[in-house]
Amino acid sequence: MLQADVQENPIAGQAQLAEVLRVACQGRGGIRVRLKGWLKWLVRRSAMAQALASPGRGRGWSLGPRGYVITYRKVERRPVGPFGMQALDAGAFAEHVEYLARRYEIVPLSVLTQGLRSGKLPTRAVSLTFDDGYRNNLVLAHPILQRNRIPATLFVTAGLVGTRQWMWPAELVEMALRYGMAEVGAATGDSLLSALLQAELPPSMRAEAGIEYLLRMGPGVREPVMARLRERFPVEPDDENLFLSWDEVRALKAGGMEIGSHTMTHPVLPDLDEEHVERELCASRNEITRRVGEAPTLFCYPHGVFSEPVKALTGRYYGAAVSTIPGENTARTDLLELRRVTAYSVEDLSFQAASSR
Ligand SMILES: [Zn+2]
Repeated sequence: MLQADVQENPIAGQAQLAEVLRVACQGRGGIRVRLKGWLKWLVRRSAMAQALASPGRGRGWSLGPRGYVITYRKVERRPVGPFGMQALDAGAFAEHVEYLARRYEIVPLSVLTQGLRSGKLPTRAVSLTFDDGYRNNLVLAHPILQRNRIPATLFVTAGLVGTRQWMWPAELVEMALRYGMAEVGAATGDSLLSALLQAELPPSMRAEAGIEYLLRMGPGVREPVMARLRERFPVEPDDENLFLSWDEVRALKAGGMEIGSHTMTHPVLPDLDEEHVERELCASRNEITRRVGEAPTLFCYPHGVFSEPVKALTGRYYGAAVSTIPGENTARTDLLELRRVTAYSVEDLSFQAASSR
């Protein structure tokens, strides 16, 4: 329903970005087709984000026997991210939780998925999920959840727990902050990425475009670029980017959080061959089972990306999986592609406006 409502209506900045890309990709015929697809996706995503953020649109939704799943990642100390990128600070998160707690029945994701399967879902069912496994989920988010007696599900990237490694997008942003975006752009060794990072556009847009470009181009382009940049522009993860330790994951579980899997290494799963996908699914499941004493039944696709073969493999090891496709979940929703809503402000939770028993 939501998809049909989406207008191809890019904001001015994204139209500029599209133009930069069009110019930049002339002469790179081999990747032009992929870029075209990506541009369409970027435009659609922008329109979709606008549709979701619109309170008017939200009032049209009917909650009824539907369940909403909300996506969170970091809850930070700073209210605005690097280069003015969107961030959610603890104060804003507390507002979300108090708002949701007043209006909804907040249930663990496992309860919501069982309800979808059995057809018996609380009228106002909402689940909160946290992706990636950042330490700020324990330090900043969990006290707020506990204060309001709210359950949540944490999707840990099992291979990153207890390490000081980066998620590569945050690492790229930190490099650009520390060493300058133009300097980082010039050192990528990739002419298109270099043009993107040095384009005459707001820095937040250049950073986001650079990340999306590397995401879309796959590990064959991304990994050599990041290795080159890492050598030249070393950065240490700061407080906002540290991952939980296993002791901390266990503490969150003891404090009422469900633990789900977000793979071992956070790859774009459809980029991998099936054997490798299966390894990511199984190894993370085994590691979480060993470390927290219970096998995870819930899975979260890294970057929200999956394909039919990835989904089929996921169904062998997990009972349900969340995507980043926006919208509501009903009894007809495929449990291996659950919809989620990303919320930065209380207005993003406007689906509540339509709910009435
Ligand atoms: Zn993730």
